[in-house]
Formats: sequence, C-alpha cells, structure tokens
Amino acid sequence: MKIAESLDGFWVIAIMLLFAIAIVIQFYGIIREVINYFFKDHINRYLLTSRLKPHYKEVLIEKFGYYHHLNDQDKSIFEKRVQKFINIKEFVPRGGIKHITVEMKVLIAASAIQLTFGYPSIYFMHFRKIILYKTDYYSNITQKYHQGEVNTRGFIILSWVNFVKGYNEADSGRNLGLHELAHALKIENAIRNTEYNFIDENSLKSFYRLAKHEIEKIRLEGSSFFRSYAGTNVHEFFAIVVENFFERPEQFYRYDQELYLVTTQLLKQDPLYHARL
Ligand SMILES: [Zn+2]
Repeated sequence: MKIAESLDGFWVIAIMLLFAIAIVIQFYGIIREVINYFFKDHINRYLLTSRLKPHYKEVLIEKFGYYHHLNDQDKSIFEKRVQKFINIKEFVPRGGIKHITVEMKVLIAASAIQLTFGYPSIYFMHFRKIILYKTDYYSNITQKYHQGEVNTRGFIILSWVNFVKGYNEADSGRNLGLHELAHALKIENAIRNTEYNFIDENSLKSFYRLAKHEIEKIRLEGSSFFRSYAGTNVHEFFAIVVENFFERPEQFYRYDQELYLVTTQLLKQDPLYHARL
C-alpha cells in the first residue's frame, strides 16, 4: 500500500515537472523578455564579474566616442560587457597583421557592445572567432576583394584599416564594424541557440515593411538618405540603417521618423538620447 502511494507521489511529481518544462519551452521567449525587462540592470551589474582591465579602459576613453556619451552607471556596464566579450572570443590575425593588439581587441569588442547595448545578455554566441586582416582581402569563395564579411560558420571577418576608418569618420554614415556586426546580429537572432529570437518579431515585421518601400525607392529613383548599396537586398539595407542610426541619428530621424523609431525598437536603444530602452 505504502509502495503504491509513494509510486503515485512519484508520478504526480514527474507529471508536474514535465508540465512545468512544457510551459517553460512554450513561453520561453516571453519568460526571457520578462526577466530581461525587470532584471536587465541586475544582469548587467551583478552577473558581470570581470572588471575591464585598466589599460583596456584607456583605449575606450581615448578612442570610443559612444562610451563618452553614457552616464556613469552605463559606462560601468559597458566596460564590463567589453571585458566579457574579449574573454569569450578568439581574435585571429591574418594577412598583414602579425599579432592582435590591445587596441584591436578593445575597439572591436566595444563596437559589438555598442550594437547590443540594449540587449544585456547578447554576445553573438554563434560567432566564436573574429578574424582580422590588415586591409581589403581576397576571398576565394566570392573571388572578390572584401573589407569584411560575416560567415555563418561562426566567423566575423574584418579589415583593421577599414574598421578604424569607420570610427575616425564618425558622421559619414559608413562604419564597417557596425555594418558587419549588424549582419551577425540578424544571423544570431535566426539561429536556434541560447540567443535565438531575441528581436521583437512585430518590430522586425514593421522594419521589413518599411525596408521594402525604401529599397524600391532606392532602385527606382536612385535617391535616398541611405547609400545605393542599401538597395541590394534587405540584409544590406538593415546593415546600412544600423550604420546611419549610430553615426547620423538626427539626419536619419528627420529623413524617416517611422523607420528611425522602428530601429530604436529593434536595437532597444536611442542614440539621440544616448539611452537604452
Ligand atoms: Zn553587408
């Protein structure tokens, strides 16, 4: 009798556990959003254990404008996130680069955290390696010269000279690092891993609707706030929107308020106010 009762108890607990797991799987996206919404600052402040190394911080202070516009609390979060990014990525020197310098690591990590500053738990987990060339490099796959590319096998490839130029010409609307990382962000969102589907689906739908209209305009009229390469496809359009969002937010807002606001929803931040949303 007692054995039968304890067996009954076992099955009740097992079924409840399975039920709980099913609910978590079913509502995983919503649960994660709720945790992010209420606890994102806690995640940022308390789960980031590594402080940024002092000589890394010097590079941020000296060379990264985005960091200067943050308030003190966000500066501290930004620093720790940069250190975490550096800790979990492998930086690989190629063609013309003998070794990876502190400046290379810090500025590339800072670019990645700039793009994901509205997403405290996103670190491009699919992309383990950052491959760095000195300048434009020849790709055997496309048989063309590239400044950078994102490989779905998990590599982000950048050319250092062009990366630096992107930040030196800060209001040109061209930024190689942000451009390639924007491609990586969209891929990361689509790959079923721990960072899957973090971008709000309704905002993405709105973005695609507006993108279709603007791409047509670029192709037919050849005139747009965005450079003509944005008319290639929706992926290039997104990457170029991201470049302009950070480099020329005021002009972007004036050109197309709706698209700008949708982009703030996609990236959960607003460069006009230097604020996370
Ligand atoms: Zn591109």
